[in-house]
Amino acid sequence: MCASSTSQELSVQNPLEVARAQLDRASGLLDSDRAIVERLRRPRAIHEVTVPFHRDSGEIELVYGYRVQHDNVRGPFKGGMRFHPDLDRDETTALAMWMTWKCAVVDIPFGGAKGGVAVDPKTLSDAERERMTRRLTNELRNVIGPTTDIPAPDMGTDAQVMAWMYDTYSVQEDLTGPGVVTGKPVQLGGSVAREEAPGRSVAFVSRELLSYYDYDIEEATVAVQGFGSVGASAARILSDWGATVVAVSDVTGGAYDPDGLEPHGIPSHNQEPEAVAEHGSDTISNDELLELDVTLLIPAAIGNVITTDNADAITADLVVEGANGPVTPRADTVLAERDIPVLPDILANAGGVTVSYFEWLGDINRRSWSRQRVNNELETVMSTAWADVSDAFEARECSWRDAAYVVGLERVSEAHAYRGLWP
Ligand code: NAD
Repeated sequence: MCASSTSQELSVQNPLEVARAQLDRASGLLDSDRAIVERLRRPRAIHEVTVPFHRDSGEIELVYGYRVQHDNVRGPFKGGMRFHPDLDRDETTALAMWMTWKCAVVDIPFGGAKGGVAVDPKTLSDAERERMTRRLTNELRNVIGPTTDIPAPDMGTDAQVMAWMYDTYSVQEDLTGPGVVTGKPVQLGGSVAREEAPGRSVAFVSRELLSYYDYDIEEATVAVQGFGSVGASAARILSDWGATVVAVSDVTGGAYDPDGLEPHGIPSHNQEPEAVAEHGSDTISNDELLELDVTLLIPAAIGNVITTDNADAITADLVVEGANGPVTPRADTVLAERDIPVLPDILANAGGVTVSYFEWLGDINRRSWSRQRVNNELETVMSTAWADVSDAFEARECSWRDAAYVVGLERVSEAHAYRGLWP
């Protein structure tokens, strides 16, 4: 039983403290081996590197990079590389921990890692971005690799950055190693349907959640914050499945139509950034979107958008986390007390890392998969994960978040117990 899940306030907000508090909660529910949990509270390794590179002016600039490797008991470390000015060690460590649970919840054989550089990519020319990425890859060359640690795109990085990482690693190691990164261009072994995969998994679990609470998808109304890889695909797929998408937004604001928008006709962030607000019968602010009276709210833009400031004003029946960490721990408690179920990010958007796994399998086997195969296999993985999490939810009478953590932590702990400790 985890009745405490709705009443125990997580009063900490530093991302690493939040991640550790979530681990402690799940381990308390599972009665896990303390020695294993102590190991999981810390990463296996934190690699901090100094990255010098030439600016176009000829001057040398120094930036600082990280690769945090949290756990690899179930498979190679896996996680994104982020270029963002606010990136720091604690946040990167928390993100690496969340990757461990995410891979375990969907039962793919990877561990958790995260990395990046504390830099604003908007201040870099393409040539500077390339030189910085190549030097960063060289600094991390001894700790990444197709069977050790496999980076992927994240905030501020993209398929081109992955192509440079792949090339730098391959040249330095004197091999052709596409499996060293995922999220590559399709021409270099990247997967078709990778871009839409996290949105597809969000749509899939949203459909399951609606059905679980006896909502007919054809009568459901949906509001989606963020119209990028995650939000646009989730909105379009749910609309294809019969839901009425009444509001979508980007960083500048949103489009609203109570009779339903046509999400396929609205350009996504990648197609035309910040063009969403022109496409509804009415405009709406991001704050108003979050408080709409809809069946399903999908925050799919950034973290910490549902906080104690607005949790009382949320009127959606259900919330599915498309972004990473959009609901703060304290807001989670408020929503739980108000009986609004929240399906957590580590399950909902795990389609991204799942299709990265398919890409990596294709790289290792030198054989790419068709779009239909990728989508079918993704649906199989997500429906198994949904079944595992909903079983835990019912058996333990806890929140959806706790259920997902329990499923992930149990898999990681069991793997540690079987492998034991060397020497
Ligand atoms: P994206 O850059 O493709 O799109 C982000 C969208 O959010 C854009 O429409 C942007 O205008 C909007 N946005 C940005 N700041 C906003 C703000 N303050 N308020 C409202 N809207 C805002 O990003 P994405 O890849 O779709 O990622 C979205 C979230 O999902 C992030 O939290 C990311 O970490 C997470 N995520 C992404 C993937 C992936 O593979 N793309 C996988 C898992 C999780």
